[in-house]
Amino acid sequence: MESTVWLASRSLPRPGVGCCNLLSRVRRSGGRLKPCGNGRKVVVCVSGTEGKTKVVIVGGGVGGLAVGGRLAKEGYDVHILEKNSHVGGRLQSLEVEAAVGVGGKSDDPGGQECFRFDTGPSLLLLPQKYRDAFTAMGEDMDDYVTLKKVEPAAYRVFFGEDEGVQSLDLLYDVQKMCLQLEQVEEGAGGAFLRFLANAKEALDKGTASFIERDFKSFWDYADVPRLLPLLKHLSPIELLGQHHSTMRNYFKNPKLQAMFTFQDLYVGLTPYNAPGVFSLLAATELTDGVWYPVGGFAKVRDGLAQAAQKVGATITTKATVKRIDHANGQVQGVTLEDGTFMRANIVVANADLPYVYNSLLGSKVKTQASKLLSSKYSASDDKQIVEAARERVISSLVRSGIGDISSMILSEVVYSPPTWQDSYNLQYGAAFGLAHNLLQLAYFRPDVAEPSIKGLYFAGASTRPGNGVPLVLMGAKVTTNRILEENYPFLSGN
Ligand SMILES: Cc1cc2nc3c(=O)[nH]c(=O)nc-3n(C[C@H](O)[C@H](O)[C@H](O)COP(=O)(O)OP(=O)(O)OC[C@H]3O[C@@H](n4cnc5c(N)ncnc54)[C@H](O)[C@@H]3O)c2cc1C
Repeated sequence: MESTVWLASRSLPRPGVGCCNLLSRVRRSGGRLKPCGNGRKVVVCVSGTEGKTKVVIVGGGVGGLAVGGRLAKEGYDVHILEKNSHVGGRLQSLEVEAAVGVGGKSDDPGGQECFRFDTGPSLLLLPQKYRDAFTAMGEDMDDYVTLKKVEPAAYRVFFGEDEGVQSLDLLYDVQKMCLQLEQVEEGAGGAFLRFLANAKEALDKGTASFIERDFKSFWDYADVPRLLPLLKHLSPIELLGQHHSTMRNYFKNPKLQAMFTFQDLYVGLTPYNAPGVFSLLAATELTDGVWYPVGGFAKVRDGLAQAAQKVGATITTKATVKRIDHANGQVQGVTLEDGTFMRANIVVANADLPYVYNSLLGSKVKTQASKLLSSKYSASDDKQIVEAARERVISSLVRSGIGDISSMILSEVVYSPPTWQDSYNLQYGAAFGLAHNLLQLAYFRPDVAEPSIKGLYFAGASTRPGNGVPLVLMGAKVTTNRILEENYPFLSGN
């Protein structure tokens, strides 16, 4: 079950609201195009504005904006089409006015206050990946967004139990962290150091080997010499075994086991169905830190959109794509709901991948479309249990010692699976898209291109590498590089 409930309890200030590198390289090379190394026929497309290759991007989520900005910087004629009245997709900040009065009760006489909720991402991890996205467009992220580290503790974990330790802090200071853990379990400080070393290894080597890497064939994935550095430090059981079980190698106390595995929920998993490699989530929190964008995540959204526009991408909102047109194994463009046809040499679908296959591509890709429908999804469920979930959230806060907040709620917004489905076309309303179980990770996650339709590429949470803003940003780089390589093979030497 996944529904999202925001309960306002404090007020926030109201937020304020290329050059043609590629073409010059084409000219330098004399415009010669050779077949790709994988034997595919080269897609030669120079029919957009001023002879540029025309790219249409379906969806202005993080993935669409990041690919759009990168391609525009490379000299493509990029058009981002977004069905909603604003870009950003799941990444949004919502402002609401609520009555406040004496004692914070909404029914007391008093003025109005503005509250801001980040309705999607609120935890900013791997800040360098955000920075990289701006740099790739030739921009400096600091000109658009200010990031602040959450410190001295990343957060406090409440266990909601009557006995034993009630809460623990996720501290960046390793010494203080060890001391804190030793008070819960003898030897836990040393175990934490072992855990951190291994988790950091999974983060560094795992990111390079599985997350930022493009897999064009199974052999790219099962490339033993590349995997050796990772396997030298971590056993396959530690990487691929059940996360909850692997954590028993470090801590006996279930609360300590939970402290370093609950992060699996960031990718829609639990420690009981996530592989151990997801210790990399705790590792990045402990080493790179937990951050937040000043003014809310809308600043990231607006920054990405402005940077993409600055390098030449156009963005059209309230433009719903009804169909991705293709014929004879070649993409042709898109048709909008109002019947407008937009010709394109390349289409990048950023909308949720199972929706793209099932609603935008027609019957030619029926097998992949039905395979995606029966894949595993991150949690979502019927709206009947939304109310029960809300009660559970409130009672957990009571149990964890935070207190009964029900009488203090000034403003309340509930997003349930139908909200996610209607707002962003997320298949089954699954807020995190396709799940991240072992059979849907890395090479086994849907590829960033559809092999039977040349010129059709994907970007976003349900394609590789997966869900979460930094992952989608890393995926945007993989997709962009694939497009550059396949459409201009002379650049990569193929
Ligand atoms: C509640 C919640 C909390 C989260 N918390 C975090 C967090 O703390 N940290 C973090 O890093 N990540 C978090 N995430 C994940 C993160 O939000 C997503 O991974 C990321 O925003 C997905 O971006 P995307 O580009 O793949 O897809 P989307 O955001 O879904 O963008 C796709 C876009 O395509 C548009 N579209 C769909 N169909 C069409 C069509 N036919 N025509 C035109 N446009 C169309 C949609 O409207 C949407 O704008 C959270 C997500 C949720 C839902």
